Amino acid sequence: MPRELAQNNAMALNVINHQSQSALSGATLSVIDPSTGEVFDTIPRSAAEDVDAAVRAARACFDGPWSHVTAAERGRLLMKLSAAVTAHADELAALEQRDCGKPTRQARADATALARYFEFYAGACDKLHGDTIPFLEGYSVLTWREPHGVTGHIVPWNYPMQIFGRSVGGALAAGNVCVVKPSEDACLSLIRVTQLAAEVGFPPGALNIVTGLGHEVGDALARHPGIDHISFTGSPSVGTIIQQVAAERHCPVTLELGGKGPQIVFADADLDAAVPAIINAIVQNAGQTCSAGSRLLIEAPIYETLLARVGEAFRALRVGPAALDLDVGPLIRKSQRDRVRAFLAEADDAGVTVVATGTVQPDVPAGGFYQAPVLLRDVPPTHRLAQEEVFGPVLAAMSFTTEAEAVALANCTRFGLVAGVWTRDGGRQFRMARRLHSGQVFINNYGAAGGVELPFGGVKSSGYGREKGLEALLGFTTLKTVAIHHG
Ligand code: NAD
Repeated sequence: MPRELAQNNAMALNVINHQSQSALSGATLSVIDPSTGEVFDTIPRSAAEDVDAAVRAARACFDGPWSHVTAAERGRLLMKLSAAVTAHADELAALEQRDCGKPTRQARADATALARYFEFYAGACDKLHGDTIPFLEGYSVLTWREPHGVTGHIVPWNYPMQIFGRSVGGALAAGNVCVVKPSEDACLSLIRVTQLAAEVGFPPGALNIVTGLGHEVGDALARHPGIDHISFTGSPSVGTIIQQVAAERHCPVTLELGGKGPQIVFADADLDAAVPAIINAIVQNAGQTCSAGSRLLIEAPIYETLLARVGEAFRALRVGPAALDLDVGPLIRKSQRDRVRAFLAEADDAGVTVVATGTVQPDVPAGGFYQAPVLLRDVPPTHRLAQEEVFGPVLAAMSFTTEAEAVALANCTRFGLVAGVWTRDGGRQFRMARRLHSGQVFINNYGAAGGVELPFGGVKSSGYGREKGLEALLGFTTLKTVAIHHG
């Protein structure tokens, strides 16, 4: 039964219309700590009826109190939410750490990023507007940027707070209301943020969260006729399903899918700068990152030198429980570790050489999902390891001899999300940036520290539409043209 939020201390519940509640069926799912493999909480195993309740609450809010909230007031609410996230950053980081196995620094960085997304979009609310268009004599024509209405947000487990921040922050700023379906593997921090939104004064129904399995709750959300826009972040295969389901009723979709990011290092690169960035781009969040730099393309003259340096850094990497805040935490779940190991077994069968591995600490809990980072060399560009997302701390190195070959290798996967280029040659920096099929290209850095301001999204099987930055706001609106004939 619904309970008033103020009277409720349990966190692992849906939040619909400001009320924390179980699934209507009462069913639950276990929450597992990846560092130990032990169950430590439960979440509602919701169903279509719970999604329906959330969408109805959101619609009532959109048509009711939310329609009277001015753009400036939306900004103030988002700024208050940003401040509340900052005030609760340690609590949120601790929840995400336990839920996802994130080392402490990563979990804290994610809480900081969440606050920053709300802050960034708070400032944008009252700067989003339409245009006037010169037209025939006797006409005045203007455009209005209007919210879609009720937006659905399907979130993966790897960066729950960051992805929630960029997606929900942008949607609310543009005047939408939200129903969020977090990953069944990572809900706790997002439930808490939704509670905080209620506490800072968002009207009931503006932000709702419903937990459960993808093929149950996610599917029900994507199919619900009351959802006016879907933001999906996740795997390409589920992205295909979402697209098909949404197409049935012509619902607009933003798809943020996978990646196979190339780090392209030319012989003239500053290797002192490149090596730590190469390591961080593949071990951050244990390699479970859509924008991970999982392929290392090295110009032939420095192939052995750079492999030796990256190998040395790999050997120093330590893997252990999230709370120990080592270089690498556990993977999210056993099946994810099995997947990574299957990739490594395939590489072994194909005769691919291991250059170096990191070390899982000897005393880690036996039930945790630990995987040592692995650096592989001379990976054939057509091998699955060079083509598909491993989603673990595995780096596939290969060499090239010309700029054209580097471009061809970088572009030869089905993905196109993020690419890195390391060179001091200014002309080559621009040529490479132009020729790479990628939503983002970083020159002499990788990821620009997350850059909330920087539009993000893919080409090809990495998806379409953009999140982050001001660009995302356009996707969270629809443009209405008003032509007035006044003579
Ligand atoms: P996933 O596709 O398995 O799940 C993502 C979300 O979709 C989860 O909430 C899940 O419950 C839900 N879902 C699953 N089946 C569904 C269905 N049939 N209908 C509706 N919803 C369904 O992905 P994951 O394993 O959680 O995350 C890893 C993937 O996400 C990787 O491919 C990664 O590259 C991608 N990712 C992309 C970005 C990006 O911004 N491009 C960011 C993070 C992760």
